[in-house]
Amino acid sequence: MSSEITPDIAANLAATWQNIDVACASAGRDRPVLVAVSKRQPDDRIDAALAAGHRVFGENRVQEAQQRWSDRRDTIPDLTLHLIGPLQTNKVAEAVALFDVIEIVDRPKLARALAREMAGQDRRLPCYIQVNTGEEPQKSGIMPMEADDFITFCRDECGLMIEGLMCIPPQDEEPAMHFALLRTIAARNGLSGLSMGMSGDFEEAVGFGATSVRVGSAIFGARDV
Ligand SMILES: *Cc1c(COP(=O)(O)O)cnc(C)c1O
Repeated sequence: MSSEITPDIAANLAATWQNIDVACASAGRDRPVLVAVSKRQPDDRIDAALAAGHRVFGENRVQEAQQRWSDRRDTIPDLTLHLIGPLQTNKVAEAVALFDVIEIVDRPKLARALAREMAGQDRRLPCYIQVNTGEEPQKSGIMPMEADDFITFCRDECGLMIEGLMCIPPQDEEPAMHFALLRTIAARNGLSGLSMGMSGDFEEAVGFGATSVRVGSAIFGARDV
């Protein structure tokens, strides 16, 4: 249980949009998609975001997302759910059935499994390839050096609908160089989608061309660990 006072989700959403709009104006860019990251948040906070009219959410675990969203899906048809956490191949069928955007394609085996499952379920979902821009051994994502070949593989051999790239910069580094690297790799592969920026750095990500930002705690408050 969280000990903090329940945050004002509607106010936080409005403030987040305001900060996004300031960043967009100074960068001369259009608004990105705001993915509200609801992982490990209590139900009342998610319902508050829905009541405020927000419809795009991000989850990092398939099972948790199923529990939270399966029923809500039935009553909220315009919901858009992004999978933003690592995906095991044995969860691919459930992920394809539940989510609308898969942001974490990061290895050939997963790309093949997703392609097969999307064909089987007749659900061709937009995908992002996760790039491990910091080359951190413990983090998922394709290495920057291997990204071009992997993008080609996903598009041409698997037939996945690759909308763009996604990254999670190392916690102890300036995110700017990671955002710039992701943008460079996307540009040379003709990809327009850039999913980058979290609560601490989404304004900066917008400056680097983010088309989608993933914001959790700035909207919902701190997560229970
Ligand atoms: C949890 C998470 C976020 C949101 O993080 P905040 O710092 O709470 O905004 C964004 N992206 C990914 C991949 C995450 O796992």
